[in-house]
Amino acid sequence: MKTQHPHIGLVAVQGDFALHGRMLDRLGVSWRLVRQAAQIEEMDGLILPGGESTTMLKFFSEEGLGPAIRKFAEQGKALFGTCAGAILLAREVLNPPQPSLGLLDISIERNAYGRQIDSSVQQGECPELSRQPLEMVFIRAPIIRRVGDNVRVLGRAQGLPVLVEQGNILAATFHPELTEDETIHRYFLKKVKDLHAGNTPERR
Ligand code: GLN
Repeated sequence: MKTQHPHIGLVAVQGDFALHGRMLDRLGVSWRLVRQAAQIEEMDGLILPGGESTTMLKFFSEEGLGPAIRKFAEQGKALFGTCAGAILLAREVLNPPQPSLGLLDISIERNAYGRQIDSSVQQGECPELSRQPLEMVFIRAPIIRRVGDNVRVLGRAQGLPVLVEQGNILAATFHPELTEDETIHRYFLKKVKDLHAGNTPERR
């Protein structure tokens, strides 16, 4: 059992990492911005924020972040990707196909809600996390088109999977950092703490 506080890193090459920081501040959790592979090694939990996945990929290859994040995931540490972050984690990216970290067994279609609905607020259900429906903000959001056998769907909106989990990897197609609701970040933090304390993630 490790006793020191887990370190949370926000991958800060592009996108809305600052708002994740604000949410973690509200929850009284310290965090650091990470932009280099060496910094990732020091973290116990990592958030890949929303933004533009193509731009992030470019930085990832310039800074060698891809292999560092893969290694981080292989060590069983907790990762949370939101929107573009979820796209980066996916095994398969559609519309158009693009490279990804391939850590989460889903197929995800970028910008899948169509141009006319660049953003929307929906009420979604995450029955294992909250009895109440949650407000979910979608911004040029992707849609998860396929969910692998080992992936659990934790949240749905309009019947579509929007929050999924595979062992130590969590991904949302919406932006939980843009609402006042702390449910999703609390869930992730618990995951970081459990994994940091040496509990095995549920692998199915
Ligand atoms: N459309 C963006 C992409 O494909 C994702 C949008 C977001 O993160 N809000 O990368």
